[in-house]
Amino acid sequence: NTPLHELDPAVAAAVDAELHRQQSTLEMIASENFAPVAVMEAQGSVLTNKYAEGYPGRRYYGGCEHVDVVEQIAIDRVKELFGAEHANVQPHSGAQANAAAMFALLKPGDTIMGLNLAHGGHLTHGMKINFSGKLYDVVAYHVGDDGRVDMAEVERLAKESKPKLIVAGWSAYPRQLDFAAFRRIADEVGAYLMVDMAHFAGLVAAGLHPNPVPHAHVVTTTTHKTLGGPRGGVILSTAELAKKINSAVFPGQQGGPLEHVIAAKAVAFKVAASEDFKERQRRTLEGARILAERLVKDDVRAVGVDVLSGGTDVHLVLVDLRHSELDGQQAEDRLHEVGITVNRNAIPNDPRPPMVTSGLRIGTPALATRGFEAEDFAEVADVIAGALKPSYDAEALKARVKALTDKHPLYPGLNA
Ligand code: PLP
Repeated sequence: NTPLHELDPAVAAAVDAELHRQQSTLEMIASENFAPVAVMEAQGSVLTNKYAEGYPGRRYYGGCEHVDVVEQIAIDRVKELFGAEHANVQPHSGAQANAAAMFALLKPGDTIMGLNLAHGGHLTHGMKINFSGKLYDVVAYHVGDDGRVDMAEVERLAKESKPKLIVAGWSAYPRQLDFAAFRRIADEVGAYLMVDMAHFAGLVAAGLHPNPVPHAHVVTTTTHKTLGGPRGGVILSTAELAKKINSAVFPGQQGGPLEHVIAAKAVAFKVAASEDFKERQRRTLEGARILAERLVKDDVRAVGVDVLSGGTDVHLVLVDLRHSELDGQQAEDRLHEVGITVNRNAIPNDPRPPMVTSGLRIGTPALATRGFEAEDFAEVADVIAGALKPSYDAEALKARVKALTDKHPLYPGLNA
């Protein structure tokens, strides 16, 4: 029972340093969030010791009576949260949720459609060297000149290529998708519709974004982005597809479920049903809107900064640096220098290579969790605008970041 700091000081020091980094910088990676202490407590519990292949009530191991309770709570809560007929809470990650959902519905060589990676799609939506691009024949759709998914192209490509599955969802897209239109097109060509709501699931849970569940055959999600839980995945589906989905996850794709993570997912679903969570998602959206409005003002436009699609309906903003003297890498480094963490991101028709890019993806979920209000987001937006100018004053901007991190302490009880 030796504590971590005694048993392994090297690992303990890195964990402490990471806590300090999270506390002392502004986390604006759109796919990240801060899990509540109770979620981390469940995730760090003795449930990590238990093998539980199978599903509640039908396990291949003895001693599953308590993990059965936990997994059933997680299933019931997530079904209720999103109004789904069936839920599988075992996928270890979003990528594995997508792999299992496709494994359930497709055979190798079948055609799928997904949003092109550089236009905002995810690796698992058909990228060439991902499993999805290797196992399936991929037809990618795109955003148009207005930065929005081109539904006319989706319809045309679907009619031409007759996919077995259409994936609607994104990793870097600042607008809402028209799920009903996707379903109509899927029905016309006899395809399944799978919505990957990994990014916007928290907004859906709060009722601040259309719910894809009534429209899609299958909905996949991660639990750690806007949803604010432990790292992991979930698959929701119609009752009709329940058996196929379950057997695709186990034994199709995975062995023993991570019951400690499933316990943490259950806690996160409880949190996500609360009024506080809804209020936090409201501030998340407000923060992104404030940021988008700041980054289209004349002073930053004058240095070549722009916002893709002109704004945002969700928790992130995509900054277009094609006309800036900074590329994506330089802009990411510049913000890192002043204490703001973001990621560079390829944008549609990006002239620069994927390791450099001409874009930034900036998200507000983690800061909203930290307690940021409109005035704080306005201040962050102004700091970002300042940092993207050639004449930036790093020391002054760092001081403004410090004032914000001091104002909204993170995990105050966890200091080493
Ligand atoms: N789907 C979407 C839309 C994502 O953005 C991501 C993660 O970035 C994933 C799936 C994969 O999730 P994970 O990183 O948990 O495998």
